[in-house]
Amino acid sequence: MNTGEIAALQKEHLMPTYAPGIALVEGSGSFVWDAEGKEYLDFVSGIAVTNIGHCHPKMVHAVQDQVETLVHVSNLYYNEKQPVLAKSLAQHAGMPGAKCFFANSGAEANEGLIKLARLWGSEHGKYEIITMRQSFHGRTLATLTATGQDKVKTGFGPLPEGFAYANFNDIESIKGVITPKTAAVLVEALQGEGGVIPADSEFMSDLRKLCDEEGILLLCDEVQAGMGRTGKWFGFQNYDVQPDAFSLAKGLGNGFPIGAIVAGEKLADVFQPGHHATTFGGTPLACAAAQAVVDVIEQEDLLMNTQMMGAYLAEGLCEIALKHKKWIECVRGFGLLLGLVLDVPAAELQKKLQEKGLLALATAGNVLRLLPPLNVKQEEVEQALTLIGEACEELHEEMAAQSPNPCQCGMGE
Ligand SMILES: *Cc1c(COP(=O)(O)O)cnc(C)c1O
Repeated sequence: MNTGEIAALQKEHLMPTYAPGIALVEGSGSFVWDAEGKEYLDFVSGIAVTNIGHCHPKMVHAVQDQVETLVHVSNLYYNEKQPVLAKSLAQHAGMPGAKCFFANSGAEANEGLIKLARLWGSEHGKYEIITMRQSFHGRTLATLTATGQDKVKTGFGPLPEGFAYANFNDIESIKGVITPKTAAVLVEALQGEGGVIPADSEFMSDLRKLCDEEGILLLCDEVQAGMGRTGKWFGFQNYDVQPDAFSLAKGLGNGFPIGAIVAGEKLADVFQPGHHATTFGGTPLACAAAQAVVDVIEQEDLLMNTQMMGAYLAEGLCEIALKHKKWIECVRGFGLLLGLVLDVPAAELQKKLQEKGLLALATAGNVLRLLPPLNVKQEEVEQALTLIGEACEELHEEMAAQSPNPCQCGMGE
């Protein structure tokens, strides 16, 4: 089928929740190809999912071997892949006493995290979860309520009770909403959907202190920032803090659906038999995929590559931003979760880049979000920077031409 045929079939048979433009049919490493055979450098990575690139041979073999051996047995039986994977996640988190619960998506992992915090607090009548404005935590009823963006909530009420909202990077704002019913504060160390906004170091350490003083939990949503994306195993490791528990999904399975809750000692044994469950969570197949991801990140030193390529990409983006400082504000983020912050909607730039063969994301209106795989090569970053430079140049000229008086809108020279 060509793209037009696929689009027509989709229009007829799928709910119109998404509005894709191109049909992708194949991927390898940092590249994908569409139904017409056009090649794209993929700096979206399926939204921070294919962190070790498309069809990494180690992942392909791990999944092939496992699919021939055992796919699913349910959690009624031991499955050695789960504790082995859980142990390595806890070790990489620097939380040796931590225990995991495996789920199937980010929303489900966060839903479990919310339940865990509520069960922990239930003895003392604490159930409220404080989340940040502009945060994103998923689309189930509880997680969309936790999400600090009104646009995902409209029309879905009544929403579950027990959530309060504070301003990100504003410790006073958090203090202002803590009540005797507060069980936890849930934060992303680096907000992805919110526009690639990192937490301030001071905010994170103040928050850890505040939670300890108030006897409430600090929870991190690591669904997007986790699994090496920021150049550390987990986003919170960019700060000198440790959460009481955190959630994972996206990059954990490199595209094989798997999510997880990783809970430190305080929460490790709060869920007892009957408290929480899932049929699919942590199947031998999902765990084989995730274990391959962990092994590849370790063996190929991808945290180092993420730091180096992230710095290289950020530097190139800064040069572009400087050149267009009238309409590009700054570059922000960690590792390979970077945002080019514009003064204009990012959709235009994203579209131009796609035409040129670079996939990127427009986020929070005016942010171009770049998420290459963690094993991206320097020449691929260079190629992306060339395309972004060209696209910005073109956009600059178009904006200048559209404006009757370029000087007034600040676009002309
Ligand atoms: C994507 C995302 C989620 C939701 O994950 P799903 O797998 O889409 O349910 C939750 N939190 C954050 C920070 C995310 O980026």
